[in-house]
Amino acid sequence: MRRLRKTKILATLGPASTEPEIVEKLHLAGVDVFRLNFSHGEHADHKDRYDTIRALELKQGRPIGILADLQGPKIRVGTFQDTSIILENGASFQLDLDETPGDINRVSLPHPKVMESLEVGTNLLLDDGKLNLKVTSTGDHTVTCEVITGGKLSDRKGVNIPNAIIKVSALTEKDRRDLDFALEIGVDWIALSFVQRPEDVAEIKKIVAGRAGVMAKIEKPAAVEHLEGIIELSDAIMVARGDLGVEIPLQKVPSIQKQIIAMAREAGKPVVVATQMLESMITSPVPTRAEVTDVANAIYDGADAVMLSAESAAGDFPIEAVTTMSDIAEEIEIDPIYRKMMDAHHGLLEATTADAISAAASQVASTISATAVVTYTTSGSTALRASRERGETPVLALTPSLNTARRLAIAWGLHCVFTKDAENFSDMVEKACNTCFKEGFSRPGERIVIMAGVPFGTPGSTNILRIAWVGEKKLNSA
Ligand code: PEP
Repeated sequence: MRRLRKTKILATLGPASTEPEIVEKLHLAGVDVFRLNFSHGEHADHKDRYDTIRALELKQGRPIGILADLQGPKIRVGTFQDTSIILENGASFQLDLDETPGDINRVSLPHPKVMESLEVGTNLLLDDGKLNLKVTSTGDHTVTCEVITGGKLSDRKGVNIPNAIIKVSALTEKDRRDLDFALEIGVDWIALSFVQRPEDVAEIKKIVAGRAGVMAKIEKPAAVEHLEGIIELSDAIMVARGDLGVEIPLQKVPSIQKQIIAMAREAGKPVVVATQMLESMITSPVPTRAEVTDVANAIYDGADAVMLSAESAAGDFPIEAVTTMSDIAEEIEIDPIYRKMMDAHHGLLEATTADAISAAASQVASTISATAVVTYTTSGSTALRASRERGETPVLALTPSLNTARRLAIAWGLHCVFTKDAENFSDMVEKACNTCFKEGFSRPGERIVIMAGVPFGTPGSTNILRIAWVGEKKLNSA
């Protein structure tokens, strides 16, 4: 199955998309990577979805990526005697560690490390930023706040503390259990929520130990401040606009999104734009014009992937949402302005053979109107450098590692094929030509550009650039 776009689509599975027939329709409509959201559901639910995706992968013969998104240290207030209260502007309100149900004067904030991090002047945003409290004094396991923006506050509502570095690990006990489970079933990507510092990424990478790629979700101001270090340590980045838009003023989200995409692209790390992309499609079969433009803008910025959350997990129109995203991507990618934008933004090349050959392959393919660039890749690192080029010619990543094929499903422009490594030079050419033909990229007589490494099968050895005609049987240089 050949996609007619290079931008990838991630879709979250949930109650609206559990049935195998729906998952298959989502994949056929355009989903390249499925997201299992560990903020909801039991391990058994995630395992069922995982098995459904792997069965589908076998049926379709195409590698599919699976991302496990860990909940992270989401902070919540406790409960109330009458399930909710109304806080008046200017009132005084106490947060403490006492787990008994709260009232109009107080409620529990059952996170000791968070309590320790609060200082006079700290702002707390409750219920997705609808309520705003300012700390006026701190005591022994209590803080007193002034209600700046009041309203209804009910049981277990979320709390965001934008400008404080919270002294908590990015991995809670629940996250550790979920992480072990996700790695055990064999997911391809782990997304880490509420990353604050590069050390948070280092901590999880140590545990994951290469068994999956690690994607840092950027949703805290502290993460924006430490972007460079976080990108360096992560394998991919998510612009998690849901919590980001609570933690920072909403009007700053667009520029931060652009900054994150630009920095991740420069580093050659896949970058995903997430949340509320087609929000109205949770209940409507057609999106708003603003949503279509939002998806289009992420694509014009060169994001690797765009993501659906509730639209595909709990909405009434999951298939339509994926089709809409796919249609937008196809349309934008044939716009000459899009090509100009991709060509205008060329990151600096690293002094490596992988970068030298990736850049040359893209250039050669464009010059001779080749129908595909083929890269032989084991770990996936050369294929990611080829993706970083954002070239106009499709890139086929041929790999003997199914894990690599699945993981690369998230990266811009890569069509991954799980196949045996080339045995020799002529096998390299024949396999590349046959694959381009079989996968619907090239017809006999068309030219392709091949990147590979000799000795064959040696990771990191990319050192060959070869032009070949599809249909040629023997070694026959162009
Ligand atoms: C987000 O906050 O944008 C996000 C993707 O994370 P979650 O859906 O887990 O809140």
